[in-house]
Amino acid sequence: SSGKKMRGRFAPSPTGEMHLGNAWTALLAWLQVRAAGGVMVLRIEDLDPDRSRQVYINGLIADMKWLGLDWDEGPDAGGPFAPYCQNERRDLYQIALERLAAAGLVYPCYCTRAELAVSAPHAEDNERVYSGTCRRREKKKNGLPGRSPALRLAVPDGAVDFYDEIQGYYCQHVSQSVGDFVVRRSDGVHAYQLAVVVDDAAMEITHVLRGDDLLSSTPRQILLYQVLNLKQPVFAHVPLLYGGDGHRLSKRQKDLSIAALRYCGIKPERIIGFLAWKAGLIAQKQSLTAYELVDGFNICQVRTKPVV
Ligand code: GLU
Repeated sequence: SSGKKMRGRFAPSPTGEMHLGNAWTALLAWLQVRAAGGVMVLRIEDLDPDRSRQVYINGLIADMKWLGLDWDEGPDAGGPFAPYCQNERRDLYQIALERLAAAGLVYPCYCTRAELAVSAPHAEDNERVYSGTCRRREKKKNGLPGRSPALRLAVPDGAVDFYDEIQGYYCQHVSQSVGDFVVRRSDGVHAYQLAVVVDDAAMEITHVLRGDDLLSSTPRQILLYQVLNLKQPVFAHVPLLYGGDGHRLSKRQKDLSIAALRYCGIKPERIIGFLAWKAGLIAQKQSLTAYELVDGFNICQVRTKPVV
């Protein structure tokens, strides 16, 4: 290896209270970095103004501190560090977008929601495979409707593959299973796929550990690394935590929010110990601090099957 320090991150969206499922991925990302003596970054993904709330940002920061999951950097010098917030980094995404535009790799899309709804559903996401209507329209340069367009990446044909530290080999034909995807919404908000790549590269993230709900997004991100000529990190997609009812833990289940558990008088060590036990890192449920788990942590120990 190059001997360079590992750099990892936890990148939550502040669209609800932090819950056990977020704490799960936060803990594993944190452990991977701490066990390697690396640098941990917290990045709040608050680009979507319709869904992001300042109270959830404050809550996330408080919950991370309470759980003992610390981070080492932020936008300001010195410490203690505030997290990075994507909302303050829009210029960077715009610069990347302009590079893509200059290379002729993005085009405006005027399709309405109703027009998009007729295309085939994605194999994996709730979105639709884009039919390419506006890619063809762009070639003709005529008949542009009078509304502001989204911008899409013109996805090249061919397979994108990578080796995931947990899921193993993964391959996707992005042009077939996703199609040309949005890099900036029609309301001007930069898409998650673009922002996450620009930020992970700008923050020199070497290892991305996150939930396996994002596994199928990774080929899109790898394409962006390639066309922007940025260095791609190593990926590890961990299984999500599922509730007893078989559904993944989500922000809608308020009862399992970290704040609610704290108000019930539950200690952070119990939550950390519970999550470590669920991950297969310890044999029995016990109370532990996150730092007590650092020694001997190895990503190979983490379960690869859904965790209930
Ligand atoms: N902000 C995304 C989420 O909360 C995660 C982004 C990432 O880890 O790449 O689902």
